[in-house]
Amino acid sequence: MIIVLKPGVTEDQIAHVIDRVESLGLRAHLSRGTYRTIVGVIGDESQLQSAPLEAIPGVAQVVPILPPYKLASSEAHPEPSVVEVAGVKIGGGYLAMIAGPCAVESAERMDAIAGAVKAAGANLLRGGAFKPRTSPYAYQGMGEDGLKILRETGDQHGLPIVTEVMDPRRVELVYRYTDMFQIGARNMQNFNLLTEVGQTRKPVLLKRGMSATIKDLLMSAEYILSEGNSNVVLCERGIKSFDNSARNLFDVAAVPACKVLSHLPIIVDPSHATGRPDLIPACALAGVAAGADGVHIEVHNCPEEALSDGPQALLPHQYAALAAQIRALAALLGKAISVPADSKHNAGQTGG
Ligand code: PEP
Ligand code: MN
Repeated sequence: MIIVLKPGVTEDQIAHVIDRVESLGLRAHLSRGTYRTIVGVIGDESQLQSAPLEAIPGVAQVVPILPPYKLASSEAHPEPSVVEVAGVKIGGGYLAMIAGPCAVESAERMDAIAGAVKAAGANLLRGGAFKPRTSPYAYQGMGEDGLKILRETGDQHGLPIVTEVMDPRRVELVYRYTDMFQIGARNMQNFNLLTEVGQTRKPVLLKRGMSATIKDLLMSAEYILSEGNSNVVLCERGIKSFDNSARNLFDVAAVPACKVLSHLPIIVDPSHATGRPDLIPACALAGVAAGADGVHIEVHNCPEEALSDGPQALLPHQYAALAAQIRALAALLGKAISVPADSKHNAGQTGG
């Protein structure tokens, strides 16, 4: 960390800054330039993270050298992490193919969609049992009955499952059913929820908040990692913008940007990022081309009857066409699509 002092700082103020740094158990190295004096701090920078050094008289700016997301940073862990969800690998050359309806609606519907996405090459099944809806009058999900249906369907089709948990009080319940927690965009900074899933060892799909910076996203990942759960997968799902031509603004640059800063896998969700089936295939491919470790896509066999997010759902045959293109791109990039451990039929998938 570097402490930049104000022009005209007094000798007493400089001595006080040095005293303060040393009282925190660190060493200070004073450097007097023609226009500015700076104090280099030597030692464990994390000791200073919560010290309000900018409040000391004579201090102009405090410049950290290390990122505040210590565990999520690529400095802490130069190799890309591989997160395993019930045998399906994500990251380090393995792509997640997460597909399914926005919400679990019924056992029959779930079975039909799971069969279709599995045949198309999906390796993880999604479906929300607890839905975060803008309106309290909109469909809120089936709750535990939905979790049961998702679990049974996943087991029948040999697909591990991912489902959203919205409330720290429900972590225990969702834990019993799911293979991977999803933390939705609206809850990316629900710190109690992050801490709670961090105390488990189950993989977490952490979606970027719609107004969150990349640093905010990595700080939220840090909450989970700092509790001891290292199985975190990031997800770019679009951010708010002034343009209403799509549901959100798909920030494809977030993928390589996260890869520079962090070892954590990152996938893309072009369904929520665009809200438009006509844009989803191009954005999914762009995400994979940009280095994403997977794609998360909503698929429904009758979008006009869907209880949530129907207008953005791909039909099974559209998903199958896209999945074939993703496989071709993956092969070009030397990546594989990991097959679920107990998969019965792996047509069209690359082993891994
Ligand atoms: C979802 O996956 O259905 C969902 C609500 O996603 P997000 O949190 O990205 O809006
Ligand atoms: Mn949805």
